[in-house]
Amino acid sequence: MHVNFRRYGLYLLRWQASTPILAGVGILLASMGQIVAAVIANLIGGLIFFWVDRFIFTSQALAAQWEVREKIACADCGKITRGYRLVMSPNYDKSHDNKPEFRCEECSEKKTAELKKRGIKTD
Ligand SMILES: [Zn+2]
Repeated sequence: MHVNFRRYGLYLLRWQASTPILAGVGILLASMGQIVAAVIANLIGGLIFFWVDRFIFTSQALAAQWEVREKIACADCGKITRGYRLVMSPNYDKSHDNKPEFRCEECSEKKTAELKKRGIKTD
């Protein structure tokens, strides 16, 4: 299984953020008893963190951006076909590339493996 470490890091932070909310509600509602306070605290947490979690797991802002273009000449083998290029990832930015290089699916996989070896995040 592959883990996107930006999502994972945010998810760990989000758990830390939930701590003061749940603890605070628990203290405020302590007079209602521990069980009732926990139920209400978890309800409040769920109302907030459903949206936060949804962002963490689905946001494209946290994913690498790939550009797909039809009928390109592959930068490696010259084949005219659908082409792919990595535009941006957490430690890679080719968004201002004047001569973007697209690659066919096969060459793109080789290039991606090469980028991964250099430590570049590709997904
Ligand atoms: Zn190719």
